[in-house]
Amino acid sequence: MRIVICGGGTAGCVVAARLSEEPGCEVILLERGPHYPPGAWPSELSHAFRIIKETHDWQWFARAGASPRLVHVPRGRVVGGSSVTNGAIALRGHPEHYDEWDEWIDGWGWESWLPWFRRLEADRDHGSQPYHGADGPITISRWPRDTWFELQERFAQAAQAAGHSWVDDHNAPGALGIGPVPLNMVDGVRQTPADHYLAPALANRDNISLITGLTVDRIEMDGDRAVAVHTIDESGATARHGADAVVMALGTYATPAALLRSGIGPEDELSRHAITQRINLPVGLGMQDHPKISYRFDIGLPVPEWPNPWFQCLLTGEVEVAGERRVYQVMPYSGQNEAGQRFTDINVQVSDARSRRGRVRLGSPDPFGQPALEMGWLEDDGDRAVAVAAGEKLMTVSRTAPLADVLSPWANIADPDQVLRTVETFHHPVGTCRMGRADDPGAVTDGDGRVRDCDGLWIMDASIMARVPSANTHLAVIAMAERLADGFRSTVPS
Ligand SMILES: Cc1cc2nc3c(=O)[nH]c(=O)nc-3n(C[C@H](O)[C@H](O)[C@H](O)COP(=O)(O)OP(=O)(O)OC[C@H]3O[C@@H](n4cnc5c(N)ncnc54)[C@H](O)[C@@H]3O)c2cc1C
Repeated sequence: MRIVICGGGTAGCVVAARLSEEPGCEVILLERGPHYPPGAWPSELSHAFRIIKETHDWQWFARAGASPRLVHVPRGRVVGGSSVTNGAIALRGHPEHYDEWDEWIDGWGWESWLPWFRRLEADRDHGSQPYHGADGPITISRWPRDTWFELQERFAQAAQAAGHSWVDDHNAPGALGIGPVPLNMVDGVRQTPADHYLAPALANRDNISLITGLTVDRIEMDGDRAVAVHTIDESGATARHGADAVVMALGTYATPAALLRSGIGPEDELSRHAITQRINLPVGLGMQDHPKISYRFDIGLPVPEWPNPWFQCLLTGEVEVAGERRVYQVMPYSGQNEAGQRFTDINVQVSDARSRRGRVRLGSPDPFGQPALEMGWLEDDGDRAVAVAAGEKLMTVSRTAPLADVLSPWANIADPDQVLRTVETFHHPVGTCRMGRADDPGAVTDGDGRVRDCDGLWIMDASIMARVPSANTHLAVIAMAERLADGFRSTVPS
């Protein structure tokens, strides 16, 4: 069975590696960005100390909401995808928000996720706990408190003094408070699906091949069956890759865009670009993301110089909004980048964001063009109330000793509306090809990632998530890709 996987990012690396374990599969992985084997990474990518958006990025911009402001929404353009450019924060999120998936799809509650979270990790600090894994491909560690930079230590002490509990393990089910942030990192080096899933598969099996430098244009359909993927390279040369099965893993922005270019999507969106509709599905609608609001301060402390970690601790908390428990995250960052720029930023993230007002449309049918992205952040009243309440919690910590002694707030903090107008992405968009039940008019795939009303076409990346997890999404994408690849393997004829 010849399987063409579109996108060698986080999910693509996991799915390609797992499907190549099946001797009856021939796996072809297509990716636009470059490939670096283990040990050959450029230094800015190998260090897991900060996010990378200057290089190996698609340089896409999005509308923040109703305002005309355009915001950079980074996405990795490299084998490994956004897992290679992200902050390496390795959080799972709260069980109750995975349980909410049951509203959209059967069988995806928290208990069903746990085996896959355990399978993917080797948690160096808590691997013996029943809810952790000790020998999976992705190693997870935390900076010991005696190695923390002064801002991190002062932040933690102030948070505790302001009433937040200490947590050793932010991935313990239900954990809330201040403690070390779990990271997919060993001695400062990122632990990624590219190195720990894809590389061993490429080295040890001859039924998997990786082709880089190719932009996926569209899926060729024969009736309702996917039969090939069309690509184009930088010189304009096109190619057709015949397939028995096509797996889309281009990510939350690019997967719906490729489906739309293939004629799979809503009639109004396709007709705007004179694309013939082949299958009517609600592609590109209902995007969720975590809105991030930054509170900037001057600090009277030396900042860690590159290369050193910009963050080591994390605060999570809860507020009550409209009678409901809502959760948020606060992270203090500070650092100096390779260009010598210093900064401090303490930001609030609405972790259990509810808004589904984001949307991906086609900017044009040109496969090199960027999709038109509308993020919808804080357009939901509840999300906005969480952001305001969490900002007040952050400001209480900032006014508490010993943090207060070294911080002086920037002027914008006096005006909450101004702060909210600076909303940005916390980089966790999901749900533009959401999974759902057979009778759900908002669903693009079923619970196995199979695209509805099509044969031979699957999606296995963050775009199919039914609900954004209440934490950073990297681990959840790996866990989901593991699960979907396993389900796919059970359908491969032996
Ligand atoms: C800057 C940043 C910081 C983040 N920080 C964290 C963090 O600290 N912790 C955390 O848990 N999560 C974090 N995330 C989120 C997390 O990394 C993503 O949720 C996850 O990696 C998404 O996986 P994916 O497989 O859906 O997409 P991706 O990993 O983005 O993979 C998509 C792949 O498809 C390729 N591609 C796209 N379009 C085409 C095309 N037309 N043709 C060919 N190839 C194409 C891309 O180059 C990429 O390799 C961050 C993300 C970003 C961008």
